[in-house]
Amino acid sequence: MTYHDHHIHPIGYATLVNGLELMDSVDLADLTARVARFADTVEGAVIGQRLNDEGLAEGRLPTRDDLDDVVGDRPTLLYRYCGHIAVANSAALSLAGVESGTPDPEGGSFDRDPTGEPTGVLRETAIQSVSSALAPLVDGPSDAAILRAFGDLAAMGLGSITGIVSAGEPLWCGVTDELDVLCRLAPDLPIDVDVLVIAPDPQLLAEAAEKIRRSQGRVRFLGWKEFADGSFGGHTAALHDPFTDRPDTRGTERLDREHATMMARAAMMLGGTVAVHAIGDRANDAVLDLFEDLVDMGADPTRLRVEHASLLTAAAVERMARLGVTASVQPAFLASEGDWLVKRIGDERMRRVYPFRSLIQAGIQVIGGSDSPVELPDPTIGINAAIGRPGFDPSEGLTPDEAAALFAPPARF
Ligand SMILES: [Zn+2]
Repeated sequence: MTYHDHHIHPIGYATLVNGLELMDSVDLADLTARVARFADTVEGAVIGQRLNDEGLAEGRLPTRDDLDDVVGDRPTLLYRYCGHIAVANSAALSLAGVESGTPDPEGGSFDRDPTGEPTGVLRETAIQSVSSALAPLVDGPSDAAILRAFGDLAAMGLGSITGIVSAGEPLWCGVTDELDVLCRLAPDLPIDVDVLVIAPDPQLLAEAAEKIRRSQGRVRFLGWKEFADGSFGGHTAALHDPFTDRPDTRGTERLDREHATMMARAAMMLGGTVAVHAIGDRANDAVLDLFEDLVDMGADPTRLRVEHASLLTAAAVERMARLGVTASVQPAFLASEGDWLVKRIGDERMRRVYPFRSLIQAGIQVIGGSDSPVELPDPTIGINAAIGRPGFDPSEGLTPDEAAALFAPPARF
């Protein structure tokens, strides 16, 4: 059988395979040496992907100073692998006009040292403040390179994907408009792509749906994608109780209920699905509040998806089942978080994170994706993690058939 990845950022994956991969750096010296070597091979700004501070001997994110030492005045931006945190050097910050007096943007923040000076660590929407200034200085992957990346996906057994693509503001630095790129390449794609569009207003969403409908090829408009919070790794998942290793924060809830309701209605008018990212238990409850409203307004619950649905209360599982909404899960997260997630959320919450068996037993429709480039897109990584659950409660493990079924194509394929 062929597999379907229900949550993947295909242009982000293409950017990763053509760019600077930082995941397996062992310490800051190794990391910065990779950045310096890569900087010699490109013009303009330097962009790195999949930075993993948990894998570094120092156990911390680099700062602007660490990067300034090796790249000097070349603007540099390194994305943490979750995509919700990035680190900029001084040249990138000054290009973006970020300085000690710059206020935090809505839905994000600049880490600051005791004197108030930004350290270079950018959280959530603060990333866009810098990436949009750098974008004109970055060469994105060529069309040929993007098509090669799609070929990789086909070679991994993926016959089709649900691709998350931004219209307007780019999600990955260097690609100006992901949707334009995808629609231009649509006739040449080796696999089918259902598209969930990240769009800031109903007009742009409608234009995106129209652009997809007009493109001759293997793309189809699936709906609208939104974020309700960030990630566990970046301490930005929205939790009911504080992070175990950061008692000062319960994360960042990003869902604007009124705006989300308007966008969801626009998506449904276009015949589309509504997919909202929720990692923390507080974010998941906020998304279920939104979905409950939408169902009350007459929405088809099978068109409402919680993306990730990572940390859930028992009441949230019960409510998802009652509403009839879908959980879109990423079992590969278990393979990469098993060593450190307990530090972030503690033992009690470890017992209710990624509760795949409970979701299925409650009768909830559960589908699987990689979230690549967050994780690698080979579906067998997620299937194995859903079965074995390394570092997690094994009683929530799935059988091989159940795990493979997460990556089954939707009915239309
Ligand atoms: Zn994602």
